Amino acid sequence: MQKATFSHCVNTLLDGGVVALPTETVYGLACLALDSNAVDKVYQLKKRPPTNPLIVHVLDLEQATEISYPNSVCKLLCRKFWPGPLTLIIPKKKIVPENVTAGLETVAIRSPSHSLFRKVLESTGMPIAAPSANPYSTVSPTSAKEVMNSLGNSCPPVLDGGKCDIGLESTVLDLTCETPKILRPGPISKDEL
Ligand code: AMP
Ligand code: MG
Repeated sequence: MQKATFSHCVNTLLDGGVVALPTETVYGLACLALDSNAVDKVYQLKKRPPTNPLIVHVLDLEQATEISYPNSVCKLLCRKFWPGPLTLIIPKKKIVPENVTAGLETVAIRSPSHSLFRKVLESTGMPIAAPSANPYSTVSPTSAKEVMNSLGNSCPPVLDGGKCDIGLESTVLDLTCETPKILRPGPISKDEL
């Protein structure tokens, strides 16, 4: 599939399909996070093991609260670092399908700052699951062209948002342990946190 318009991408998502979207970190393979059939398609397209959970993208803390239970530390971090490249692991609500979190009782949430991704979140009004838009265990794409090259014939519609500003996956911070733990180093450093 080739590049697609904004409205085509939004309609594809609302129809339970998959599209590639730009974020400030890398391009994501996106679907509605609360649609477990759509989530299955993302795992299949990426050939991602079902044991590797997805990050759910939200507009803001208010939308995060619809799918998870943010504690006071989480709220503080969201106010300081969102929208931006910080993913937080917190307890999930029942509404989140099992396949999104690979059966875990926690969910990874992040609010991206990329204006196009935010416009998609506003238009769908729903949280969006999106791992990087490349086959499992290959390099994450930072342009529409890299997405199309890496996914080849199985590439879904791509929303071209130019080159990603950061080009590095988000920092992942686990807030479910007594002391918050960095699970994946990224653009936001331990010192900043
Ligand atoms: P990716 O989607 O490829 O950028 O990777 C998402 C990262 O978040 C992976 O390292 C996952 O293991 C991690 N992750 C997602 N959900 C959870 C969770 N509930 N608990 C711990 N790590 C998670
Ligand atoms: Mg990845």
